[in-house]
Amino acid sequence: MRPASAPPLPMLTIAAAAVSPYPACLRANACHFAALARRGLAASLSRMARRIDTYLQALLPSDKFAFYESCRDFSDAEIAPHLLDWERQHVLVPDSCIEAMGQLGLFGLPIQEQYGGQGGDHTDLVLMGLALAYHSQSVAITPGAAVSLGAKPLQLCGTEAQKKAHLPDLAAGKRMFVFGLSEPGRGSDAANPEVTAVKKGDRWVIRGEKCWSTNARWASHIVVHALTDQNGKNGRRSTCFIVPMDAKGVHYQEMKGKKVWEQSSTGSVMFDNVEVPHDAILGAENDGFKVMVTTLNGGRLFIAGLALGSLAFALDKCRVYAEERIQFDNQPIGRFQRVQDVIVDMDIALERNLTWLMHCCKLFEAGTLSREQAAKVKVDCSRVASDLLVSAMEICGGVSCFDEFGLIRHHNDLFVTRVGEGSNFALKDLIVRPLRQA
Ligand SMILES: Cc1cc2nc3c(=O)[nH]c(=O)nc-3n(C[C@H](O)[C@H](O)[C@H](O)COP(=O)(O)OP(=O)(O)OC[C@H]3O[C@@H](n4cnc5c(N)ncnc54)[C@H](O)[C@@H]3O)c2cc1C
Repeated sequence: MRPASAPPLPMLTIAAAAVSPYPACLRANACHFAALARRGLAASLSRMARRIDTYLQALLPSDKFAFYESCRDFSDAEIAPHLLDWERQHVLVPDSCIEAMGQLGLFGLPIQEQYGGQGGDHTDLVLMGLALAYHSQSVAITPGAAVSLGAKPLQLCGTEAQKKAHLPDLAAGKRMFVFGLSEPGRGSDAANPEVTAVKKGDRWVIRGEKCWSTNARWASHIVVHALTDQNGKNGRRSTCFIVPMDAKGVHYQEMKGKKVWEQSSTGSVMFDNVEVPHDAILGAENDGFKVMVTTLNGGRLFIAGLALGSLAFALDKCRVYAEERIQFDNQPIGRFQRVQDVIVDMDIALERNLTWLMHCCKLFEAGTLSREQAAKVKVDCSRVASDLLVSAMEICGGVSCFDEFGLIRHHNDLFVTRVGEGSNFALKDLIVRPLRQA
């Protein structure tokens, strides 16, 4: 045991390796370790054949695959090289990156051309999520939430006047809507909000707090789900309102200390007697929960895509590393069956779940995707990918602990895919319903 008076042990970090005070044998390890981390990073950034590309090429028509490739190339060029800096400086997605995504049209993917969008479909959005999440879920969720949670309720339930007023700027990335469903006291039990809206003449007065609002930092408006008839039937007690973030009485604060989706903005938004006109209602009065739930069906496919983007990165990282890392009698660890086992399981999970997700996208486009189907694919993709990430880190060993290696980022971010847009355990309540019918 070291005496209490002994000087503190030096910390072994990649950056410190060159001046390490460790004895030669450890120093050699540290240098080897740093080189591995660098080589690993480089391998993931280079144009290696990604397994996800192989599967998507087989699953998609050529125009869709070409679209995925352009998102992938953007992600490699504009996101991957900056991620470590953004993480180490603890900054949110920089404005320049949001602007670049706007110029690429990512904020208007499934918005109709008549409103200034790209006229694509939800599958395009999921493909963009897969491509960007390969490097960073944080960055992918920024246009992802802006479109699938922000603009989507407007597309689904907005009046023509509301669409004309907002969709062109949303499609151009000049405006952002956030999805105000969750509250400090209302997470999974979201049908009965504590935020209230009370009629006052031809206006409504909103009070309370929303939290976990993704993109709040950049938001121009928030879609607030508020209680409007506490005596109504369950699911018919609330209404959605489009509220400008600069309205009198709206106060936003970034929720600090989040160690997942670190470059994504997550805000708490307070409503202190905020007044809005009647035409701020989105959808029908007392039908707000339907607006939210309908929106979430598509959102869950996007979250499933984020999980698979992370899994795809981890699979490529591991298979490269397993061939490079030499242990025991000069063998790459990729020769050990238990290491192969994990890699093969990741490969099977990626192909199977991508196939399932693309099938769900087709059903979504046809308007036949049920709530249970959307919930199931989200539950399974998030659970399988996050479970496998732990095994992936284990087979890469200690190097996995470093931000530079990339796996720890995906490990942390995958947790959000388990709880976001309906926690997996709560969603199983929905999934079990048809199973309980005789
Ligand atoms: C990074 C991040 C971003 C988010 N972005 C948004 C956003 O933009 N807009 C928004 O409105 N919300 C957002 N959310 C909120 C998210 O949707 C909620 O976290 C989620 O709905 C779960 O709510 P909760 O965290 O309050 O957990 P709780 O509801 O408190 O549940 C805790 C746990 O209890 C269990 N549980 C709860 N209910 C049940 C049930 N019926 N059956 C079985 N088990 C159950 C589950 O294990 C669950 O995970 C975000 C969350 C995160 C972490």
